Amino acid sequence: MSAACIFCKIAAGEIPADVVWEDDQALAFRDISPQAPKHLLIIPRRHLERLADSQPEDQQLLGHLLSVASRLASQEGVSDGYRVVVNNGASAGQSVFHLHLHVLGGRTFGWPPG
Ligand code: 5GP
Ligand code: ZN
Repeated sequence: MSAACIFCKIAAGEIPADVVWEDDQALAFRDISPQAPKHLLIIPRRHLERLADSQPEDQQLLGHLLSVASRLASQEGVSDGYRVVVNNGASAGQSVFHLHLHVLGGRTFGWPPG
């Protein structure tokens, strides 16, 4: 755990969140500022700043996060159309430096993304 990290605090139960999934490796909760009718964040419990910091040994964990994304999209009723986003680095829009997958659904999305 990183003491200053807001997502570590959510994972530790120190900050409240609307949690929709929990297991030994991951946690998912609703984004506080949703950009779509359904907007979930999926995080590893272990503090990892960015996707770029992941290592080959994190392969199982990264796959697990995507697998949870698929399950939650079904659970939320948006499995026919949703977007999974990872912003890596400030220039890509990352504002919380604890790896997270955004799962967005419930509306149509443009391409290319902004
Ligand atoms: P990023 O910009 O790093 O890709 O995404 C960070 C996301 O975390 C943003 O969509 C933001 O709304 C969300 N967020 C930031 N602080 C909190 C918080 O305390 N609780 C929840 N549920 N979401 C947060
Ligand atoms: Zn963290």
